[in-house]
Amino acid sequence: MNRSDRGKLFVLSGPSGAGKGTLRKKVFETVQGIRFSISCTTRPPRQGEKEGIDYRFISEEAFLSLLKEDKFLEHAEVHGHYYGTLREDVEQALSGGLDMVLEIDVQGAFQIREKMPESVLVFVSPPSLEELEHRLRERGTESGEHLRLRMKNARLEMMKAKDYDYVIVNDDAERASEELKSVITGYRSIREERK
Ligand code: 5GP
Repeated sequence: MNRSDRGKLFVLSGPSGAGKGTLRKKVFETVQGIRFSISCTTRPPRQGEKEGIDYRFISEEAFLSLLKEDKFLEHAEVHGHYYGTLREDVEQALSGGLDMVLEIDVQGAFQIREKMPESVLVFVSPPSLEELEHRLRERGTESGEHLRLRMKNARLEMMKAKDYDYVIVNDDAERASEELKSVITGYRSIREERK
């Protein structure tokens, strides 16, 4: 396959509650030929999350064994749980000419930039940390110590936003998803022109 026929890798990061998933789902409603990489995690499923759709929920033992076999393109420990992207999933999509979106934390994003410098890093930011805390409380999936941990991590993640290729402020999901869509379609038109 010609290099220009390969798909592009888009990495979406941002604090949990910033709305990465919502933006990605909105974009996927209208953009074809793009896939979402379903990460492996040792975190237990939240209410409503589905195995093989939101994540592959696996045991710590299974995770460590995949890690040892070098099956992860990137991995990280976030909020006390392991998360990782399977190398094979990404390779399969890109070599099949499909674009792929990873929703991963900042540690993982910089591992991807090291290994695949041609990938595009997009940071999804909440309008403010106060608004983020408000969203997390509303979501009701975290409270007490867990909420504090996520807010602490959010502050650290926000400091890395400046190292991303794009920063999208999610103050309005409609507008922010249009912005994400233009990033993706922008790269596609460059690819078409090179053919
Ligand atoms: P959550 O538990 O809220 O679903 O995810 C916590 C954090 O882990 C989020 O920032 C999410 O983007 C990140 N994450 C999810 N999957 C992966 C992955 O495969 N690798 C890395 N490095 N981070 C991930």
